[in-house]
Amino acid sequence: MNVQAKSGLQTFPDLRSAETGLLRESGASAVAWCGRGATALYWAYRMAAHGRSAADKREVILPAISCVVPADVALMAGLEPRFADVDSRTGLVALDSVKARWTPRTCAVVFVHLFGQTSDLRPLAEWCRSKGVALIEDAALALGARLPDGRPVGSAGDMTVYSFGRKKILECGGGALAVRSRELAHALEDELATHPLPPEPDAETCSMLELSDRNLQYALIALLRSRALSDASEMFLRVRAAYQRIYLRPMTHAAELASAWPLLPALLARRRRKADVYAAELAVGPWQLLTGWQDSGVCWRYSLLLHDAERVVSVSEAVRRDGFHVSNLYWPVNQFLRPDDACPDAEGFARRVVNLWVDDSVDTDWAGRCAASVRKHAHQ
Ligand SMILES: *Cc1c(COP(=O)(O)O)cnc(C)c1O
Repeated sequence: MNVQAKSGLQTFPDLRSAETGLLRESGASAVAWCGRGATALYWAYRMAAHGRSAADKREVILPAISCVVPADVALMAGLEPRFADVDSRTGLVALDSVKARWTPRTCAVVFVHLFGQTSDLRPLAEWCRSKGVALIEDAALALGARLPDGRPVGSAGDMTVYSFGRKKILECGGGALAVRSRELAHALEDELATHPLPPEPDAETCSMLELSDRNLQYALIALLRSRALSDASEMFLRVRAAYQRIYLRPMTHAAELASAWPLLPALLARRRRKADVYAAELAVGPWQLLTGWQDSGVCWRYSLLLHDAERVVSVSEAVRRDGFHVSNLYWPVNQFLRPDDACPDAEGFARRVVNLWVDDSVDTDWAGRCAASVRKHAHQ
């Protein structure tokens, strides 16, 4: 039976207990299970723009530090992404900068819980309410995290986007959109019932497009980092449509997600144990440690900001040669999609951040040796 065609919100018997837990914890009134976080963002944007005059191009304010997906999906949903600068110590979006980007066309603000970090969202939520714009929490990297008041991520926004995809927290596949109000739940049901997903490319094409997109971003980031190129946006924008085809997918991993869901607390504890090792081993050095994971309970990657931005690439390469995973691939998204929204603190952050692995592919012993490698090469 095609439930989706009838009520919009498809139910998955496998996911009943995950759904009940999610709704109870976050206080949402409905969940739409999706094939990935990008799909959930797409519906969230459609909801945010719902019922507003289409006379002017509507805008969504996004943090400059994030992967490109939230902004890319906004383009796909017909919204203009605007970029707010971040707190230079955490990479989390700065409220003052969000306010400065507001225009009468703004219909949503996305708060990305970057690397598992959170912050007190009440001032942002209040401001969004006063302006009549939707607050969307992006919890892709912060599943299971706690806000400073002890409530779960997803309990402050009008809508919350989850991803269970590769390189996130649960890594079993899929995504979800949770909406708070009954009105949004009804609008979402209507939207899903009347806008079936377009057919997606086959698996082979999807993985080629993902590879191409990754290579494109790596190549452009290296150009921008080395200051060999000052503006990559025209080139980047010109090819986006080719990649956007893989963003809309139906949930096909319900059984995997259902079995992974109850194991989340143990998984988060294993991640924190490795983060604890890094924190002890890297307590002193020519860097600043990001400590937000200690408050939120979720460490996506263990992140540090090297004092000397010029050494990020050479230190990362040296640590990689020692056999450890390390990445430094977050670049201010405004530079790809809207360079006019200047975000100097985001650039400072992106030039200095280094991420170390804490997932189940590594253990605490590995983390200790990786930290020693970072110490050795960063001190040189
Ligand atoms: C990965 C990611 C997404 C998209 O999730 P997918 O499941 O890969 O579509 C959205 N927002 C952030 C912050 C992410 O890291």
